[in-house]
Amino acid sequence: MPRRDYYEILDVPRTAGLDDIKRAFRKAALNHHPDKNPGDSAAEARFKEALEAYEVLSEPEKRERYDRFGHDGLRGMATHDYGSFDSIFDAFGDIFGDGIFGSIFGSSRRQGRPGQFRGASLRVTLEIDFLESAVGVERKIALKRAESCDECIGTGAKPGTRPATCSACGGGGEIVQTHGFFSMRVTCHVCEGRGEVITARCSACGGAGRVQKKREITVKIPPGIQDGTRMRVAGEGEAGSDPRLRGDLYCDIFVKPHEFFERHNNDVLCEVPVAFTQAALGAEIEVPTIDGKAKLEIPKGTEDGHVFTLKGAGMPDVHNGRRGNQLIRLVIDVPRTLTNKQEELLREYATTEKTSVRPRKKGIIEKLKDYLGTL
Ligand SMILES: [Zn+2]
Ligand SMILES: [Zn+2]
Repeated sequence: MPRRDYYEILDVPRTAGLDDIKRAFRKAALNHHPDKNPGDSAAEARFKEALEAYEVLSEPEKRERYDRFGHDGLRGMATHDYGSFDSIFDAFGDIFGDGIFGSIFGSSRRQGRPGQFRGASLRVTLEIDFLESAVGVERKIALKRAESCDECIGTGAKPGTRPATCSACGGGGEIVQTHGFFSMRVTCHVCEGRGEVITARCSACGGAGRVQKKREITVKIPPGIQDGTRMRVAGEGEAGSDPRLRGDLYCDIFVKPHEFFERHNNDVLCEVPVAFTQAALGAEIEVPTIDGKAKLEIPKGTEDGHVFTLKGAGMPDVHNGRRGNQLIRLVIDVPRTLTNKQEELLREYATTEKTSVRPRKKGIIEKLKDYLGTL
């Protein structure tokens, strides 16, 4: 499925400023928000699409790359992973830390134990060469992600101060709401269920407990990985409320097509041209394999399209390393031009075969002479 243009998704012109983008995103998010459209998977998809568009267009570096190179320009750059809804809600704190979202989402943001939350997962697209996919490769990814603040060790409280018990819920993290006959317990909106509030904010993180930091991560891509594979690197997403609750990093791997090789499951297909004389008389030829050159014996009288199998010369299976085969399809190359000597020999050969061949074609100069003679 072709990916939609981010400007089109948010319905803004390409020249739109950051404020216009924020406004447009807020509108789209309100329309498609899952709380407003329960069970509507199309709305959910549009909501995620709008989030992704907003993340790219609101960050100058990503927007510039997108403007210049489109979706491909974002390869190798980490974005939040919107695949699971949990992580969307967890990601809000970081992406929408400027508060444009606070009022929309309220307390639906946090799940699990009060005050605990998992860090957002990140997603990155990596492109590797065909031959790299055969032997495995390491890629370094530079990304910005939320990390626990060193200054306050993630508490958000100014060093030397302690958070105070929340006065709204008395420290329980929940309050009772009454609607007519019913009363229900909901997460306290003052402390977001933590049971405590920060009295003096940490100046390094503004009380969030987390800060954006640049990180370089080395991702090991195993041999035999298939094009389009999503790899999960556990714990390399953003920091959560505690070190065990880090998000994950998802790497979408794209394998660039190769000039000669094509992968089918774990087999590698390739076409090799040979001269028709080699096919007719037999020959030993050199063929490319993913390990380098190999010799291939072509028996006398091999037909066009014949497939040879090099056992065990295919791709390794990404799970068990067992290699597939290489399949080599012969393509007989018919010469487009012949020297006079070659043509003479072939005509002589043809008479032995008793096949009818076309008489020698006249060249354009001879044709022109003939035509002039008729005038
Ligand atoms: Zn801090
Ligand atoms: Zn509270």
